[in-house]
Amino acid sequence: MTAASFCKRKSINMSKPASNNTLAETDRKSLNPGSASPASVPPGRAQRGGRSKQQPHWKETDYPVMEHFYTIQGEGVHTGQAAYFIRLAGCDVGCWWCDVKESWDESIHPRIATEELVRAAADSGAAFAVITGGEPLLHDLTALCEGLHEAGLCIHLETSGSSPMSGDIDWVTLSPKRFKEPLDQIFPLVDELKVVVLTRKDLQYAEKNAARCPDGTRKMLQPEWDTPESIPLIVEHVKAHPVWTISLQTHKYLNVP
Ligand code: SF4
Repeated sequence: MTAASFCKRKSINMSKPASNNTLAETDRKSLNPGSASPASVPPGRAQRGGRSKQQPHWKETDYPVMEHFYTIQGEGVHTGQAAYFIRLAGCDVGCWWCDVKESWDESIHPRIATEELVRAAADSGAAFAVITGGEPLLHDLTALCEGLHEAGLCIHLETSGSSPMSGDIDWVTLSPKRFKEPLDQIFPLVDELKVVVLTRKDLQYAEKNAARCPDGTRKMLQPEWDTPESIPLIVEHVKAHPVWTISLQTHKYLNVP
């Protein structure tokens, strides 16, 4: 298994430049008072989440899962990289243009043991897992992250940030939605800001959220798939503000899940 380029874990020797997240790491610790002490954190690995003594061991937990599969990350900074996707069920955000509405009602999806998810991800040979949804932060991700890390995978979270943060995450992609705004606590943790654009108002919304993210955050604008008229707006914005780049849903062009 090769390491994901964003992984901070020294054990697989792919640490991210420290300058990107000094503030974020400080805030992560303060957000997680139940985290392990610095002495118990493996050297070179930031402690973003952490398991309190009260929480069960990860093997005793399960999650509502819409689907999990090995594929190519189609969007964002890690586009084109092989990744194991775990799409947790349940979402309370309600974007009208959502392309995974079947994920919203978690009661119609099976609960799958964390151990089974971890084994499937590890057996795939992927270097990293993408925890997505739905809105994955509706669930406490601590156990799932522990299991995935124990199996040697790095973890990329895709979230709207509208529910409390949990879990020890290596790469946080915030995709904020006006339908249910991100919580303040997510912003110091963000590695990548990815804003879906339909109209000019979304560009203003993107800038508003970018102003709250740490220095070094990768900023991406992504056209909503069924709104091609957003593409010229995005192109003009990126040309005028080159700190932004464009994210496309390449998995839809490639016809992979
Ligand atoms: S947050 Fe994501 S899963 Fe939830 S409604 Fe919006 S696009 Fe769909």
